[in-house]
Amino acid sequence: MSVVTRFAPSPTGYLHVGGARTALYSWLVAKAQGGEFVLRIEDTDRERSTQPAIDAILEGMEWLGLNWDRGPYYQTERFQRYQQLIDKLLAEDKAYKCYCSTVRLEQMREQQMAAGEKPRYDGHCRDNPEASGDSYVIRFRNPQSGSVVFDDHIRGRIEFSNQELDDLIIARTDGTPTYNFCVVVDDWDMGITSVVRGEDHINNTPRQINILKALGAPVPDYAHVSMILGDDGKKLSKRHGAVSVMQYRDDGYLPEAVVNYLARLGWSHGDQEIFSVAELTEYFKLDDVNKAASAFNTEKLNWLNQHYMKTLPAETIKPQLQWQFDQLNVDTTAGPCLEKVIELQADRVKTLKEMAAISRYFFENVEEFDAKAAKKHLRPVAKEPLQKARALLAGLSDWNSKAIQGAINQTAEVLEVGMGKVGMPLRVAVTGGGNSPSLDVTLELIPQQEVLQRIDKALDFIARREESN
Ligand code: GLU
Repeated sequence: MSVVTRFAPSPTGYLHVGGARTALYSWLVAKAQGGEFVLRIEDTDRERSTQPAIDAILEGMEWLGLNWDRGPYYQTERFQRYQQLIDKLLAEDKAYKCYCSTVRLEQMREQQMAAGEKPRYDGHCRDNPEASGDSYVIRFRNPQSGSVVFDDHIRGRIEFSNQELDDLIIARTDGTPTYNFCVVVDDWDMGITSVVRGEDHINNTPRQINILKALGAPVPDYAHVSMILGDDGKKLSKRHGAVSVMQYRDDGYLPEAVVNYLARLGWSHGDQEIFSVAELTEYFKLDDVNKAASAFNTEKLNWLNQHYMKTLPAETIKPQLQWQFDQLNVDTTAGPCLEKVIELQADRVKTLKEMAAISRYFFENVEEFDAKAAKKHLRPVAKEPLQKARALLAGLSDWNSKAIQGAINQTAEVLEVGMGKVGMPLRVAVTGGGNSPSLDVTLELIPQQEVLQRIDKALDFIARREESN
């Protein structure tokens, strides 16, 4: 039988890091075995589910490259099917109507709590032909003895005694089905063979297994993934920085780095750190996922991001860098191709956001010089080297790195000064700051006339500075 996995988010917010990792693991299980990955939107909680959250989840999945083979299914479009199966369970006496009032249920709850017991439904309407009233919920008739056992891929054997499980409400007074029931019906109808989800659902699993059995449906495998903690050991939250997956895009991370990072966060394969998606699908096994909670480590993510910036083909990175320039309103149509910028800058930054920020001078005028760099390098002594370099650069008929380097070398030789005395003022003049890749290749990417104009501007700056002194 071919494996079918699913990701089933409730659209009440963005796709967060924990959800994304669960989705990734689920996706990998399907890909590794040539199976199918299903996306299901669990939107039955109409008050908390929103369209922007649905859009954000789909956007996050797409950005990470977690493509789905079927779906997205929406639970709100499946109410008829749930109703049909609720009726079936009622007809087979596997479910029953419960007329207990909220007042009665509340009193019962209080008494149980006072007696130090776990609150649970006492079965008042379970076998009570007298039970009647204006409104009712429908409860699943949970087995009263024996136990539910399942072998969790991550946590091993888990057993719940049926006595601990009360008769779960499967339809509310208004007839709408409840969460646990919808999940069961969907997992069955969608042919899910392997459920990968957060550990917060462990307590739902025995209930869901009992309902599956009552419906005559096969029981899938389960894997409950542990929590992600912040680097301080506390539950991951906004305090720790980005929690939404799309925030990582905004902050300049590559999806390849985030996928690699999330895969390794709680799973390992020897001591290998870097995995292509192809390797992940080859090596990933749920049984190798860590049971312990994993701690987020931004430094490691940065390291991976840098690795991918340096090693992925520039054309793969290009759209992400373009996105960053768009956020800065930098028009890149007239400048060098982004592949070149990536080649030059990849090992100088940790993120594409930084890369865009430090690469504006390829596409825009230098409006202002960095104050510190200007103070240090655009001084009167820099006038002569800049003038000389300008003259030699202006004379070049071929604008390429070799010729540019030649002009810079010649300037230093003629003036009998060190390379730094020429290079640094020139760098500040053309890039606005004291940090850039090597000048020959940097200048090559900027049109000759533009370089000359920027040198003029720097010379003006020096002249004004002389006047004001
Ligand atoms: N909708 C649930 C959630 O977002 C997941 C349910 C499941 O995976 O079974 O937490």
